[in-house]
Amino acid sequence: METDTIAAIATTVGEASIAVIRVSGPESIVMVDRLYQGKHSLQEVETHTVRYGHIIDPLSNHSIDEVLVTVMRAPRTFTREDVVEISCHGGMIPVQKVLEALLAEGMRLAEPGEFTKRAFMNGRIDLSQAEGVMDLIRSKTDRAAQVASQQADGRLSRLIQRLRQDILESLAHLAVNVDYPEYDAEQLTAERMLAKSREVEQAIQELLTTARQGKILREGIATVIIGRPNVGKSSLLNALAHENRAIVTDIPGTTRDVIEEFVNVRGIPLRLVDTAGIRETEDIVEKMGVERSHQALAKADLVLLLLNHSEELEEEDRKLIELARQHATIVVVNKTDLPPRLDMKKVRSFIDDLPLITTSVTEEQGLSELEQAIADRFLGGAIQSVDATYVTNTRHIHQLKEAQHHVRDAIEGIEQEMPLDMIEIDLKNAWVALGEIIGDAVAEDLIDQIFSQFCLGK
Ligand code: GDP
Ligand code: ZN
Repeated sequence: METDTIAAIATTVGEASIAVIRVSGPESIVMVDRLYQGKHSLQEVETHTVRYGHIIDPLSNHSIDEVLVTVMRAPRTFTREDVVEISCHGGMIPVQKVLEALLAEGMRLAEPGEFTKRAFMNGRIDLSQAEGVMDLIRSKTDRAAQVASQQADGRLSRLIQRLRQDILESLAHLAVNVDYPEYDAEQLTAERMLAKSREVEQAIQELLTTARQGKILREGIATVIIGRPNVGKSSLLNALAHENRAIVTDIPGTTRDVIEEFVNVRGIPLRLVDTAGIRETEDIVEKMGVERSHQALAKADLVLLLLNHSEELEEEDRKLIELARQHATIVVVNKTDLPPRLDMKKVRSFIDDLPLITTSVTEEQGLSELEQAIADRFLGGAIQSVDATYVTNTRHIHQLKEAQHHVRDAIEGIEQEMPLDMIEIDLKNAWVALGEIIGDAVAEDLIDQIFSQFCLGK
């Protein structure tokens, strides 16, 4: 168990006018007090109170910054250690200087995620909650933030704990039976266990079905916009982003689209990737080679294929359609404000049953239909139910699959009337696999790896 005192700037480094330094550990209060000058010694003040004062440079005896200091004594703190938070007001340079002074007093600069790790180590939160905190820091949309904060709240943990409890009860029955085997009791136990195991299996399955949506919320839908030069790819990107980050131009083939941009569509993060990767040259398919175009599209969760309503279908369009048909594509016929030249019947016959939306990006027509089509395609409306417990974390998904696998083995074993001690092993394995989600029986190196993904100061 770490017992040193750690410090870090807890707010984002940037233009904010207030920056907070967080300190945690047994010597937090004493060490900060050595630099603090105010009405009272921090060692005397009541816990969970805020004090005004100055942080003094011990070498020059000058004030480094005017501060508000919050003193929070263990155990009612985030880390369950003594915590001091120092709000600095003088901008980034004084903050850095205050931090340096604290380190000179003998504190250690916290590693990324170390505060949250201590909260976990001291039993304040469990592992899935910690990961929820991490996702919260990173989340790209409100909806994703909501899911992450529910997880930080311990929603997933409670569910996992309930499942583990169910398994444990089955195991308890088993233990009695294995010790005192009597035919009748055994039969009864097997039936009860079968029912319980099926329930657990079902619950895990339900959690796993939220995983796809969870992943989408967490990572964004990797989206690629393709289409001939000048059909309006950049314009659409801009319209979706409601801001002008990509450069729009009249000259075909000169558009330089951004490499990656997040766009919030009805609460779903679209990650517009590698838009420039599909080169905007006349002979796109020839130049990249069909094989390489495949690869570029293969990474996409969603392809938006743009066609030009005011021009006839060209050979290049057809090649792009051919490519797009093998992916999750929405066909967008753009420039409907211009005189129609595109043979829509022909288009429909080529695109098969891909969804088709007509737009005029410049006239702002059809965009909400497109957004709806995207939302439908990925979430089938289910995203509206904020009540579901979403599994968003790859590690959690892996553990759930592992647990499900063991429970299924157990179910099969019971059905085939295998010896109960074999089934006991399967159920124990399932119990352990679920436990790893909430940090029970997790190897030390895994814990370090998880916490090292945090931002500094968290
Ligand atoms: P890209 O090469 O596919 O990225 O196409 P751009 O987004 O750069 O657009 C090319 C030109 O078409 C620009 O002058 C846009 O203003 C114009 N444009 C885009 N969408 C529409 C539309 O719906 N209607 C009309 N009339 N012009 C459009
Ligand atoms: Zn472009």
